[in-house]
Amino acid sequence: MSGMSNVGRPTRPNEVETRPATLTGGRGLLQDEPLIFELNGWEKTGVDIADAELDASDLGDLVRRDPIDLPGLSEPEAMRHYVRLSQKNHAIDLALYPLGSCTMKHNPRLNEKMARLPGIGDVHPLQPQSTVQGAIELMDQLAHWLKTLTGMPAVALSPKAGAHGELCGLLAIHAAHDAKGDTARRVVLVPTSAHGTNPATAAFVGYAVREIAQTEDGRVDLADLEAKLGPDIAAIMVTNPNTCGLFERDVIEIARLAHAAGAYFYCDGANFNAIVGRVRPGDLGVDAMHINLHKTFSTPHGGGGPGAGPVVLSEALAPYAPTPWVTHGPDGFKLIEDATGVAAQSFGRMCAFQGQMGMYVRALSYMMSHGSDGLKQVAEDAVLNANYIKARLADLMSPAFPDGPCMHEALFDDHWLEGTGITTLDFAKAMIDEGFHPMTMYFPLVVHGAMLIEPTETESKHELDRFIEALRALAQAAKAGDVDRFKGAPFYAPLRRLDETRAARAPKLRWTAPQGSNLAAE
Ligand SMILES: *Cc1c(COP(=O)(O)O)cnc(C)c1O
Repeated sequence: MSGMSNVGRPTRPNEVETRPATLTGGRGLLQDEPLIFELNGWEKTGVDIADAELDASDLGDLVRRDPIDLPGLSEPEAMRHYVRLSQKNHAIDLALYPLGSCTMKHNPRLNEKMARLPGIGDVHPLQPQSTVQGAIELMDQLAHWLKTLTGMPAVALSPKAGAHGELCGLLAIHAAHDAKGDTARRVVLVPTSAHGTNPATAAFVGYAVREIAQTEDGRVDLADLEAKLGPDIAAIMVTNPNTCGLFERDVIEIARLAHAAGAYFYCDGANFNAIVGRVRPGDLGVDAMHINLHKTFSTPHGGGGPGAGPVVLSEALAPYAPTPWVTHGPDGFKLIEDATGVAAQSFGRMCAFQGQMGMYVRALSYMMSHGSDGLKQVAEDAVLNANYIKARLADLMSPAFPDGPCMHEALFDDHWLEGTGITTLDFAKAMIDEGFHPMTMYFPLVVHGAMLIEPTETESKHELDRFIEALRALAQAAKAGDVDRFKGAPFYAPLRRLDETRAARAPKLRWTAPQGSNLAAE
């Protein structure tokens, strides 16, 4: 190693502790950032708007008499506030983002370029359909590829996220049972390892949720499933590959049992990234499956922003798909907006307009730039990367399911931390100090102190090695009894340990002006 190798090495945690806090709360060119309301008084404005000459009588009692209480910032102050906040955030464009179950893959810039092309970026949902034939054709093409890749006959594009797709699938299932007059089915079966959205969706649709047990090797317990299936079961919701990062070996039998009992098979397809181009869910007996375009097909994960979770549907459920439907006839492409004609049995509409056009463009761009061979390689590389991580950490950390390979995510439990006094949470916080965003923690719930790592196919071997070396160094420190490094972490983050429970249980969602302050921004 060269003499430079110590440059940038983290100081030991106890040295950091004895260092004086900075005088301003700022740190290394990063300023302490208050709320925008607390920033800078109320007298200024970044825009210059003429006083409105409203005829107040039109508004009656609704005329505002109090100040609007907007923060008073100049344009550069407002800009800097948001850029400074963004610098405190992690992003896929900064580094590996190993959150298991989330598939945080690179968002190719080509997708962004396509989404901004004139005629695509400026298309408006209220344009007459005759003026947006190309856009509807694009939706039809995306639908075609989603159906081809999944081996399913129909797809509803409009749901706006995975969870919204689950809602779409269960509403279609509900409508299908209703159409048969089969109204006694009030229960949805969900494995214990399921993502929280599965039972939440079932409950939202009005179903009772019953759990299916899991086997020692992390799969659905077929005997338990069979015992629980009956005339009261509307559907089963099974994730495949499942949330333990394992392929459900008996998935065809699971589908057969569900169908024999008159239930439908909802497959949570959030992990489609691991099998795209390799396995078609339609061949496995799936009736409905959502596809998170922001996972498998590389569209950005929006912080509650525009997303898309199209749902592929079997022959049995296709008639109940939500509007709008895309059809193609002698007069060109058409969006069928109402539950009439061919869409007469549709359960209705899930959102305004047709869904998230910008995400459709990005996903199609990703598919077309990869081609069928490239998409197959996506799944293969995602699985290879996860197995590489699992294999290289298996001697120090404890894989939750050590036998056999995993799919696209490597799952560890906290068995290997026993006796160290260090928890999964402590370990994750120490990762932040080393420059790496933590993996998903404590999920799935069936694995004690779970650490779920999903590298995705977009990380190079070099990046994976850097990540693995950081985890190996930390694991060795944990085993060597260097407890302070973990218990006090993060030492280098803008904020240290937060009271996450209180933040979740008693969130402060409203800012109240301090007593006596004079808020009068215009
Ligand atoms: C991400 C995910 C979901 C939910 O998808 P959103 O797009 O976040 O609503 C559901 N199930 C599983 C297994 C997931 O990983």
